Amino acid sequence: MQDLHLHSNFSFDSNTNPEENIKSAIKNDIKIMAFTDHMDNFCQNSRDISFDLEEYFSTIYKLREKYKNQIKILAGIEVGIAYENADKINKFIEENPFDFVIGSIHAVEFEDVWSNRKNIEKNPAYYYRKYYKYMLNSVKSCKNFSVLGHIDYIDRYLEDKSVIPDFSFYEDLVEEILKELIKTNRGFEYNTAGFRNDLSHANPKDKILEKYKNLGGNIITLGSDSHFPDTISYKINDGIKHLKDLGFDHISYFENKKEKTIEI
Ligand SMILES: [Zn+2]
Ligand SMILES: [Zn+2]
Repeated sequence: MQDLHLHSNFSFDSNTNPEENIKSAIKNDIKIMAFTDHMDNFCQNSRDISFDLEEYFSTIYKLREKYKNQIKILAGIEVGIAYENADKINKFIEENPFDFVIGSIHAVEFEDVWSNRKNIEKNPAYYYRKYYKYMLNSVKSCKNFSVLGHIDYIDRYLEDKSVIPDFSFYEDLVEEILKELIKTNRGFEYNTAGFRNDLSHANPKDKILEKYKNLGGNIITLGSDSHFPDTISYKINDGIKHLKDLGFDHISYFENKKEKTIEI
């Protein structure tokens, strides 16, 4: 079992000691885990969301050595993507020795999606089209992340889930995003945090998974997006079973930015 989306106290929104994550992962029978702390300085301009990379790598490398007989530990990152800063983002990913890079939309035109959730609820038609257009532009211009993070993240923090538009309203944009990922040998993640945020599904929802399958896509990683040790591995086994039921025959992980597959 894998959990490839984990935050520690290198992220602005987690207080978890990295070693606590590892202990919890081992306890929960995770065999491959990835630290994917937030680097969001490229998509947000209101606050500093970065950390000391040298310290990050040295911490992970030490822990990797210490626990090497129990678990595979990958040095990943979750980068907030923004097409306006594509050159900087591409360079950042290329220059650093990450195993695995999640590219996520956390902000649209530098406006944080979570902070803007009340406005999104008031005018979902406008914001949903805008969000997916921005994602498409960012996926096209930010070329070297491994997987796209939590595609339908915009659903996650809305208090009133009844305002979420029907999939058909933005399906054309999602289709273009998925085609671009497939064309460039990148995938997306099945992020189980949706279940913890009052959605009855992971991110992305089944309609997106089914479309990806129909388009011939087959690169999916799994992660819990945990910010605390007690949610590590949450719903990952269910997720694997679900992907299998939808017709996928393997899941992926990345080492040295190269895809590897595991049959399911
Ligand atoms: Zn995220
Ligand atoms: Zn995350």
